[in-house]
Amino acid sequence: MEANYEPMWESLGLDLAAHDELLRILGKGYSDVFLSQENRPKGMSYFDFVMSEVHGLRVKELIDGQKEGRKVIGSFCVFVPEEIVRAADATLVGLCTGADFATDEVDELLPRNTCALIKSAFGFKLGKVCPYIETADMLVGENTCDGKKKSYEVLGGLVDNLYVMDLPQTKSPEGRALMRAEYVRFRDAIEELTGITIDAERLRKGIGIANDKRRAIHRLNSFRSADPAPISGLDALLANQVYFYDDPARFSESVNKISDELEQRVQKGEGVFPEGTPRILMSGCPMAVPNWKVPWIVETSGAVIVGEESCVGERGTRNLADDSRNTIDELMESILDRYFQIDCAVFTPNLERQRHIEEMYKRYNADGVIHYGLQFCQPYQFESMNVEANLEKKGIPTLRIDTDYSMEDIGQLKTRIEAFIERIS
Ligand code: SF4
Ligand code: SF4
Repeated sequence: MEANYEPMWESLGLDLAAHDELLRILGKGYSDVFLSQENRPKGMSYFDFVMSEVHGLRVKELIDGQKEGRKVIGSFCVFVPEEIVRAADATLVGLCTGADFATDEVDELLPRNTCALIKSAFGFKLGKVCPYIETADMLVGENTCDGKKKSYEVLGGLVDNLYVMDLPQTKSPEGRALMRAEYVRFRDAIEELTGITIDAERLRKGIGIANDKRRAIHRLNSFRSADPAPISGLDALLANQVYFYDDPARFSESVNKISDELEQRVQKGEGVFPEGTPRILMSGCPMAVPNWKVPWIVETSGAVIVGEESCVGERGTRNLADDSRNTIDELMESILDRYFQIDCAVFTPNLERQRHIEEMYKRYNADGVIHYGLQFCQPYQFESMNVEANLEKKGIPTLRIDTDYSMEDIGQLKTRIEAFIERIS
């Protein structure tokens, strides 16, 4: 018998009619985009289940955890250090920002030239359709791009549990000092919220939990360098998206199980698409659930995506924090070492990202790069110009696209993507 989550959603203050409509659209989208794929690894059934319960079972688990004293922290960015949250037995969840919702209400609060990702976060809040944002004991905003920074001033007027973290814009010693101070302040805030003092042992455990998730996803990605690719880009993206809100131990176990299957597929030369299918590296803005538009166009146009240079992808998950150090200060430094390497476009200069794209292109044996920019995202749209010019100079075919969450440009995108695939075939 299917569980009835309506009382839970009602108690969270969701607008049940609007929420039903969202689930209907999400279910249909998922079925059209994911379940229609052929040759999927069997292990993807776990993610099908997770997605079918995305607003049900996982939210119930979080609420059950809260009854046992486990706090829930909501985040919008990969700079929020999961290790510190886990060290206090709390749970970090990424907040969905991958679909338009309540757009008229959003337009009354935010300038029109705000990126779809930020608008989506507000739409889910204003439309009362996100059980995660309503469950969270603390929402963490981070001062990254101007859009987010200013929008948190607005969000602060809508919620009473917003914590804003400052972040540097340069990889200078001063930038690192700012980040260190802010991570210590965040640790203090988490200790105050949870009533738990984070000592070295707890922090080491928190680092271990986060590292395990990353190791699992690294392993899955490592098989994508094979031709034929043993998993579609859409399914790999889904695993990267679920990374943000699933139970960490269960996630790592499930991803490792799929990886066992992928390893066998690679040994047998089995793939989702035939050998020789053109291979694309995606690079650019993050794609949060349920933003599957461009990968879906790419993979229904005769190519396969073999890697994501994105925060919902390798920019967000690469590098582990060193848990072999002893004191709390040393372990905090390990965390800092890891996060200070994230090459988000809000940093200037940001040459490391250019190098990472090229390195991924080679490692995944890609044939071309598609740079994905969200309209009105200044950091990534600015960088896309140099990324394209530098890659093309090195003989790496690159397509730069700017889009949003609407479906209006699907025909136009498909035409451009098909022409690009033809170019790299
Ligand atoms: S792109 Fe930058 S601001 Fe956005 S989630 Fe990634 S690190 Fe955070
Ligand atoms: S997509 Fe760009 S503009 Fe939007 S939140 Fe991320 S960095 Fe900021």
